[in-house]
Amino acid sequence: MQFVYPELNNLNYEGISGIPAKVFSCIRTTFEHEYEYCYYLRYTTTTPKVVIIVTKEYNTFFLDLLRAMLNIKEFLNPPLILQRCMTLTNKELKKSFITLGNFQITNKQPNYVIETIKAFGVNTFVDIVFKMLLEERFIFHSCTPETIHPTIQAFLNVLQPFMWQHILIPILPLFLSSYLSSILPCIIGCTRGTYANFMMEFGEDDDVHVIDIDKHQEVSRCIRENYLVNMPMGIFMAKLDFIIANEQNFNDEDVIKLFKQLYKLMLERHSHFFKKNESKFEFAQEMFISSTSSFKDFLKHFSQSQMFFQFIEEETNRLNFNIPISPIINEIFTVNYKKLQDISSIQRRCGRCLEEIVKEDPVFQYQDNSVHHRQCARCIICNKFSDRKKCLLCGGINEPITKQDITQTPHNYHALPPTPPKQQNYPTPPPQDEIIFCKPPALPPRRSVSTTQAIPTVPSRTYPTKNNSKQLEQQTKITSGRANLSSSLTSPRTIERTEPTNKRPLPPVPNKRTNFKINYY
Ligand SMILES: [Zn+2]
Ligand SMILES: [Zn+2]
Repeated sequence: MQFVYPELNNLNYEGISGIPAKVFSCIRTTFEHEYEYCYYLRYTTTTPKVVIIVTKEYNTFFLDLLRAMLNIKEFLNPPLILQRCMTLTNKELKKSFITLGNFQITNKQPNYVIETIKAFGVNTFVDIVFKMLLEERFIFHSCTPETIHPTIQAFLNVLQPFMWQHILIPILPLFLSSYLSSILPCIIGCTRGTYANFMMEFGEDDDVHVIDIDKHQEVSRCIRENYLVNMPMGIFMAKLDFIIANEQNFNDEDVIKLFKQLYKLMLERHSHFFKKNESKFEFAQEMFISSTSSFKDFLKHFSQSQMFFQFIEEETNRLNFNIPISPIINEIFTVNYKKLQDISSIQRRCGRCLEEIVKEDPVFQYQDNSVHHRQCARCIICNKFSDRKKCLLCGGINEPITKQDITQTPHNYHALPPTPPKQQNYPTPPPQDEIIFCKPPALPPRRSVSTTQAIPTVPSRTYPTKNNSKQLEQQTKITSGRANLSSSLTSPRTIERTEPTNKRPLPPVPNKRTNFKINYY
């Protein structure tokens, strides 16, 4: 039940009855390590009530259904709800997917992936997706719990055929906020109140990507190498630009196809590197990587990920059972994209790499009419893909943006306040009704035996002190070896605590790691 009220630190009648009715979703992991998608409608009449739908596949239809129930206040009359479902299916219909008595339920084409890309912009969305493939740590936060899971789900969907293998908690309840200090790859969503609570206790962490869903951007200075500066990537991004600019002609499936096509191109001839050793197939990874071209640098890192390992293992299993390996995508899916010849009859020089752009090259155009190779639309400071010549975090609020941005999504670019200096970013004072400060539980939390909510166990970071250098060393090994979750639980929590029971907002806690010198013995 705690997951139905993620804003509350502990469940009590007064707390529950005071918070608003909501429809939102999250994922739970079963003891068999399978995902189940939960859709919640919580509301209070004379007593608190909750409607929960659990499915094996994510489908926004259930959110629409619960929202319709919330809007028409017909909580207790399912046949009436189903009759009104007609109003939900106003877009192009897929074939029916549920039969309930006399009712056939169909669903409209989902579009939350396209909506998410529109909100974040192609550059930021792609930047986040490829960091997820490298299994970085992510925290997504928002003031509204209902936006968190669909946003995370949009990113997860375009990872196909790869599948996130690590900690995934779309909505972390407040009482578990210390989970945000996980040292393992993670994708964790939470309300801004939960994040603020965590920040007050643990301080800022430069090693995690913090994504502000309400601002549609990364707000942490977690800078990584960009391994994706190549022409095929430029063509892919230009095609994605085209889909987003002409979204009425496309749906989420098309976006997923485009990503799959890129992954197929990236893996090139990987199917040729399964070698039979005695009776079993094995993958010759090093030979494969040295055979690749444009994406070699990215693949060197991606091939170290659990996601890649899992993908190759499944392919190997198929071969061992005489099943052909997966084609990733079968159909040929063609999408137009903007080339230099579409905007200029003369040759241009790229404003970033200063090399000549030929007429067939995919391009990105800024407001000042300067033309870049599509893959050269990157921040000049941190090198990540960016709509601005200097990204917002590098101080580019006044930098030129594209004409397209202004005409199509002005709210994304003009509503944002200038980025304040880093130390003033957080903690943001949480909304008054959203947060109760108290001491978080020690990890791992105790759970009753009967619960089916399989919460991943999360070890916390150990900070350097005089006495724990050995422990740190162990922890580093555990992290770099990508040990499974339970093995790293052996490292006890040794973080200094600030005063967690203080009810007033605390001043920003400086990053503890920079305040200590590591003493080597
Ligand atoms: Zn260039
Ligand atoms: Zn930057």
